Amino acid sequence: MEILHVSAECYPYAKAGGLADVVGALPKYQQDLGNTVKVVVPMHRTKFLYDNEWETIHKGAFMMASSFFEYTIIKEKKNKLGFDFYCVDIYGLLDREKIYGYDDDTERFVAFQIAVTDWLSKWEHRPDVVHVHDHHAGLIPFMMQHCYVYNNLAAIPTILTIHNAQYQGCMDWNKSNFLPAWDKGQLGLLDWDNKINPLACGVKCASAVTTVSPAYMAELQYSANGLEKLFEYEKEKCVGILNGIDSVVWNTKTDTYILSNFTSKDVEAGKKINKKKLCDDFDLDYEKPLFIYIGRLVGEKAAELLPPAINKAFETLDKKVNFLILGSGDPAVEKQLERMRSNYFGYYNSQIGYNEKLAHQMYAGADFLLMPSRVEPCGLNQMYALRYGTIPIVRSTGGLKDTVVDISEPKGYGICFNNASVDDIVLSINRANDLFADPKKMVAIQKKIMNIDNSWDKSAEEYFNVYQALTNAK
Ligand code: ADP
Repeated sequence: MEILHVSAECYPYAKAGGLADVVGALPKYQQDLGNTVKVVVPMHRTKFLYDNEWETIHKGAFMMASSFFEYTIIKEKKNKLGFDFYCVDIYGLLDREKIYGYDDDTERFVAFQIAVTDWLSKWEHRPDVVHVHDHHAGLIPFMMQHCYVYNNLAAIPTILTIHNAQYQGCMDWNKSNFLPAWDKGQLGLLDWDNKINPLACGVKCASAVTTVSPAYMAELQYSANGLEKLFEYEKEKCVGILNGIDSVVWNTKTDTYILSNFTSKDVEAGKKINKKKLCDDFDLDYEKPLFIYIGRLVGEKAAELLPPAINKAFETLDKKVNFLILGSGDPAVEKQLERMRSNYFGYYNSQIGYNEKLAHQMYAGADFLLMPSRVEPCGLNQMYALRYGTIPIVRSTGGLKDTVVDISEPKGYGICFNNASVDDIVLSINRANDLFADPKKMVAIQKKIMNIDNSWDKSAEEYFNVYQALTNAK
């Protein structure tokens, strides 16, 4: 089967979060199952772009409102990612430093979607399935079915994967002329709450909708940033498929970012060496349990609770713990986390920014990972932590519910709590601290979690089953 993925991010080319990890890994596993998989993304000015060789495979043009745009599709020449990888350049709109965060993001991503659909309509062959990711590609199923010039694509099944329903890419109706001439009888497919809503439109128009964990799929029917009724209505074509992790990239045995490679067999010694290095680098106390947080510093992740929870944990635990935070996001939270360094020198540190290498070193060296998320569609951090022998402390929501079992259960291996609150976080840190005081139990859990199989094998098959049902139904 031939599958085309359309996404804003793809690891290692361009990453802002879990979407990149998924789009960089799932295609490799799909190829292993015997499929031909291609990925297309917008052109961003990243190191990967400059470090690799590209060939131009298509040039085209389109009108968006009253502006004329030329686009170019380039393909990475050496199959470095393990699948065919294409970037779309649109003069004046793409080819920028950052993936997101520009005033004209709406124009940029609509244009990206038009260029992909236009290219697809002119391609000499057709993929069996077009798999679009998040709102940045959510209008493509609509365009394939209802834009007159792309009618030749109407029969191709489409699948939308929602990595995060908080972000929907809404735009005012005065931008409806951005889209190539479309059947006005289908206006309702674009609309949600008097706006053009690309995510909602994708849910309505895609042949199948998936999200990145079964628990998150269930949650969307009562908490979906305004789309609850839509998910309730469309539930028959929706399914939750848990993300996997790329077990080649995330492998303690071969990871070149970490000081000492290890396996579950020598987890105790291996983690000790990595912890020592991490603690030395960040002026932390190696003897004390090390709690880390890695991620976006935003409300969804309950990041603003970190400073008060850390303050309270230090008070109640008489500074018997260490914290190391890596992330970026809300400037107020960033400032607080930076300021705390001088208050708690020797057992607290933070690095504001994005640092892939440090993230690997933290998963390898830490004892516990904190994830107090309010919303967590799947969450990859807890799975990386498990694989690196770091015990996750999570709020039971979305994918965290599907992947972490509390130590109070017979088969448990993590620490779970119910409320995104300072008290629940501190209580969980206390529980973790008690666990840390029992080294034998710690090591037994570390061995166990390193052997949990969260790789893509099973999920890649589940996606294949969804594709197959769609292509059979054609
Ligand atoms: P989300 O996509 O909502 O941000 P996920 O848990 O699905 O959250 O994925 C987050 C990914 O981004 C993980 O690979 C995590 O290690 C990485 N990550 C997030 N913030 C940082 C950072 N500041 N530095 C390095 N890696 C980060």
